[in-house]
Amino acid sequence: MSRVNILVTGGAGYIGSHTCKMLHAAGWAPVVYDNLSRGHREFVKWGELIEGDLHDTEKLTAVLKEFKPSAVLHFAALAYVGESVRDPLRYYENNVAGTLSLLSAMNAAGVRNLVFSSTCATYGVPNVPFINEDIPQQPVNPYGQSKWMVEQILRAATANGFRSVALRYFNAAGADPDREIGEWHEPETHLIPLVLAATDAGQPLQVFGGDYPTPDGTCVRDYIHVTDLADAHVKALDWLLTDTRPAFEAFNLGTGNGYSVLEIIQAVEKAVRRPVHRAISERRPGDPPRLVADARRANEILKWQPLHSTLETIVKTAHAWGPPHARQ
Ligand code: UDP
Repeated sequence: MSRVNILVTGGAGYIGSHTCKMLHAAGWAPVVYDNLSRGHREFVKWGELIEGDLHDTEKLTAVLKEFKPSAVLHFAALAYVGESVRDPLRYYENNVAGTLSLLSAMNAAGVRNLVFSSTCATYGVPNVPFINEDIPQQPVNPYGQSKWMVEQILRAATANGFRSVALRYFNAAGADPDREIGEWHEPETHLIPLVLAATDAGQPLQVFGGDYPTPDGTCVRDYIHVTDLADAHVKALDWLLTDTRPAFEAFNLGTGNGYSVLEIIQAVEKAVRRPVHRAISERRPGDPPRLVADARRANEILKWQPLHSTLETIVKTAHAWGPPHARQ
């Protein structure tokens, strides 16, 4: 039986490529649309790569008409908080205007099912220990705002017949257990690859702030394995395609367990059996003290459960994939 196409924007990136692998394993045909500005050509292994930009509405429309996907999984975005504070226009241009271009192409081609990569950064600095989807969203930086704006657009676009799911990721981490793909950002800003790099003679890790109102003074985050995120996309796709009525739903994707920066360092030291060189430095602007998910809705509606997200598995797979400098 021939496979049904799914268009994956940003499918050459970290979470997009892991999702393509899982889509393929589940019997779908991922078709990647990526401008390779941050993604990697060698990560596109489970389907065709079309090089293109989100702003190219004509090209997107033609691709949608040619491949007739049942849905679009939309990962393509800029995703660094610090960069978004320095250059907000670029973030709104890429993440909001780029998504509008995609939506108008989808509307023109009659493809109206979408899974959107959203983020816990849409919540801002919540004052609850466990974040569910119904607390007010008050993003505090242009990255979070750009994702929040797209969520509002998707909610409104139900009037155009769209069915969409926003998946609000907590901290994506870890790598494909088969080591075919993994985390590879340039520059790398994420904690776990940087901690791994700091076990070598290289750069000491800067711990951003030691005076937060948390048990050990460092920030607490909910780390979720990229394979579990990929699995949630396949489940969200199945959920989208079970009905044809316009809809918008948002789901948190996290484990409900919070780990501090120092706990991450200890987990890496244990896994690698080498000390992590570190120094406490200033707080990084825009970092909330604690972000931990209440992900019961994804569990109840999508039947999703994180199965690979113990800290041990996250660190083990990230280590097996290798620190960023290994690929430079
Ligand atoms: N962090 C740190 N040193 C680093 C990078 C990150 O102390 O070199 C901290 C950061 O302040 C945050 C946590 O690690 O509290 C996770 O940061 P990351 O950039 O990985 O993800 P984010 O939470 O920003 O999405």
